[in-house]
Amino acid sequence: MSLKRKIIKKKTQNPKLRPSSSKLETENSRLRKSAEKKIKERPGELKAISMDTNSLIHELQVHQIELEMQNEELRKSRAEIEESRARYSDLYDFAPAGYFTLDKNGLILEVNLTGTSLLWADRGRLIKKPFTGFIHHNDKDVYYLKSNELFRTKEKQSCDIRLVRKDGSIFYARIECILAKDSVGDQDQIRMIVSDISERKKAEEDKERLNRELEQMIYVTSHDLRSPLVNIEGYSREIKLSLDELQSALQDGAGPETLKNRIARIIEKDIPESMDYITKSIFKMDSLLSALHQISRSGKTEFEAAGVDMNSLVRDVISTLEHQFKEKGATHEISKLPSCICDKKKINQVMTNLIGNALRYLDPKRPGVIKVSGGKKNGQIVYCVADNGIGIAKEDMDKVFDIFYRVSSDKKGEGLGLSIVKKVVEMHGGKVWLESEPGKGSAFCFSIPDGDKN
Ligand code: ADP
Repeated sequence: MSLKRKIIKKKTQNPKLRPSSSKLETENSRLRKSAEKKIKERPGELKAISMDTNSLIHELQVHQIELEMQNEELRKSRAEIEESRARYSDLYDFAPAGYFTLDKNGLILEVNLTGTSLLWADRGRLIKKPFTGFIHHNDKDVYYLKSNELFRTKEKQSCDIRLVRKDGSIFYARIECILAKDSVGDQDQIRMIVSDISERKKAEEDKERLNRELEQMIYVTSHDLRSPLVNIEGYSREIKLSLDELQSALQDGAGPETLKNRIARIIEKDIPESMDYITKSIFKMDSLLSALHQISRSGKTEFEAAGVDMNSLVRDVISTLEHQFKEKGATHEISKLPSCICDKKKINQVMTNLIGNALRYLDPKRPGVIKVSGGKKNGQIVYCVADNGIGIAKEDMDKVFDIFYRVSSDKKGEGLGLSIVKKVVEMHGGKVWLESEPGKGSAFCFSIPDGDKN
């Protein structure tokens, strides 16, 4: 085989470099021409050689130059391929969504960096692992259903499911997958895009919560405001009847003593009694309306976050409630509290509501003790207000944070304080919860993200 053929054979063995036959010929003749041109630029080297040897050496030199040129072109192509591979790998790894390639049994074959950071796991921990191992157990059926559909229809499938990270934390993800063939072209693979949709889910949940709150408000305006209105209407009619009776008593011509007694009863008892109910109903309506006003304002007012000394904030709250403490014969124990970054006025309102409730729902059978404590845990600052009061039954524990929910109506209140507490704490990015035992007492706690940790 001639040297030239050998070169061509070598070049054509690599399928990626294998050009079509007409292309190959053009390419060879281009190389030949360029090599011939270059050799003419070095004629001195051939002078002392006989014609045959001369032509052989010429041929060899041509091939040598051809090889050098091919080599140069290969080097260039390799550099281009490497550059484009680096570009592709950056685009793949740092894409805004996680890319997963699964084999037909659902084992992870490839994953980009975004995918690993979504699951908080290294690539090594993901490869060859079943993708279903990262799906929340309640959402596995949804995924299996979609995956069956994918193989049946061969069409793109998508679903929203919860994924579980390496540390056990959960997030909502949108999964979109298509079916593809592996690089050899004989095995089915699943190509999957995974996007974190927790923000969107949270916005949807917030919307649902707001709708529920709105429904409750409508319920209150239509039900709770109606009952004082019915009272006002009823007792106004009573007053009208009393006035009619007064008029007929004056026209009856009864003896002065009977007349005096009837008038006295109407003026001193019937009318004041009705007036009293009317006034109470007006107060009830007024407090319900101002409660509605308060709740609508609590979400709207400006949020001014700053470092707040919670020890002095709680001292202020206690001093405004000093009178109630004395009245109830209750005492307080305040631990050293960590500072936090929050809206001082709003957190003052939270503490006032919690300590106020702790006082209001004390058990008269024992001396009241209210404890305020605080500490740092998992990047959160947690504050608790605990009492030894009447406590709350299990079935009421979730509901007490609902707007206008009251466990019993025998104490003053609108069922509003805790819903404001919840709203304000959530506005700070925190959570509120409670522990309670009927007959023993309750502890209301709330968390605020630790500004120092973020
Ligand atoms: P309000 O106290 O005005 O009724 P809240 O929203 O502050 O409204 O509280 C809702 C309900 O939760 C109260 O009616 C009460 O039944 C219950 N509650 C709140 N705090 C306590 C507490 N510290 N101990 C026992 N029950 C409580």
